[in-house]
Amino acid sequence: MEDCIKNKSNLYCLVLNKSYMPFDIIEWQKAITLEYLGRCETLEYHPIATIRSPSYEWPFPVVIKVNSIKSNAIQGPPTRMMIYYRDNFRCAYCGKVLKDNEITIDHVIPKSKGGRWSWENLVTCCRECNSKKKDEIWIPIYVIPKKPNFLFPKYIKIIKVVDYFTREIWIKYIPRNLLKEMVSI
Ligand SMILES: [Zn+2]
Repeated sequence: MEDCIKNKSNLYCLVLNKSYMPFDIIEWQKAITLEYLGRCETLEYHPIATIRSPSYEWPFPVVIKVNSIKSNAIQGPPTRMMIYYRDNFRCAYCGKVLKDNEITIDHVIPKSKGGRWSWENLVTCCRECNSKKKDEIWIPIYVIPKKPNFLFPKYIKIIKVVDYFTREIWIKYIPRNLLKEMVSI
């Protein structure tokens, strides 16, 4: 198969579960395969992009629904990187956007006061604020320390690279609160 659009690496397909809730984003090869095998119902095709072989032209699916009850709910405690992504790499206290060498994780309620490693108690923090704060409790200003509904670094990267048409179609299927989490980062 040969694709006919230039940036085939930017072709992605949104996958909905049985209840029409988005739970995954997959690469174009996988989407085409699922469709070919009849393992999904295609809800939307890309208005322009197609996949081509010498004798065949295949419309590209951008939204498919599979017969699954999987959800995108985040399980378990966050990783350091998930907190950085949730917070947009921004210090919760001074608002500065941080580079790798400036970024730290802060326990809002310090460990010494019983603060835990949890979505609600961890924020991104610059080295400067972290060293000033020490064992005090500061109120995060620039981020909301809560568990997101839909946050995986790969999705956030993807939604930034997909083309305009794909994004416009996806917006119809991604609930507003999830979309806000995805694009605000
Ligand atoms: Zn700071």
